[in-house]
Amino acid sequence: MAKNLDPDCKQCRREGCKLFLKGERCLTKCAFDKRPTIPGVHATGRKKVSEYGIQLREKNKCRRTYNILEKQFRNYYEKATKSKESTGWALLKMLELRLDNVVYRLNIGSSRTEARQIVNHGHITVNGKKVNIPSYQVKVGDVIAVKPEKQGLEMFSSIKGAKVNTPKWLEFDSNALTGKVLALPERDDIDLDIKEHLIVEYYSR
Ligand code: SF4
Repeated sequence: MAKNLDPDCKQCRREGCKLFLKGERCLTKCAFDKRPTIPGVHATGRKKVSEYGIQLREKNKCRRTYNILEKQFRNYYEKATKSKESTGWALLKMLELRLDNVVYRLNIGSSRTEARQIVNHGHITVNGKKVNIPSYQVKVGDVIAVKPEKQGLEMFSSIKGAKVNTPKWLEFDSNALTGKVLALPERDDIDLDIKEHLIVEYYSR
């Protein structure tokens, strides 16, 4: 399967904002805080960008935040255009309901990248059945859990029994390492600085 090989911090510098791709490190030793310039030997500042450039950046910012490759992101957009809801919101909602994102939102993974690895490695069950597909779309009522036999792994020790914050559409029992989808997310629940209408404008050109 194709993979995004761009270094995480370089992606933040490219997009001109913190994308929080590295979990805890983003809050403590952030490379963007030290060097917010665009990558490249001669790059010093940011030039005035065209309307197209602004739309492109917004699309890439969203794509990189959710760690999605271009082709798959475009497929999400195409699906979103068929939704009864506004295209931009339908797109964001599908991204938010991906299993790897939900694992991240439940704090089982410290970043979306780590959450994806956890899913890929088969550590997660949905309604009691192993699901190792990061793009799996969760539904209201789904129960997402760390497999009981994997709960002793060191990677889960820091959240076991800890007090964790989740968005209001999710709940999480950190003792059982089990979460539940209580409702569909609303736009206010998504704490990302993404202007989805710019993404729609980008693809509508
Ligand atoms: Fe981005 Fe995190 Fe790297 Fe900072 S530490 S530049 S937020 S990936």
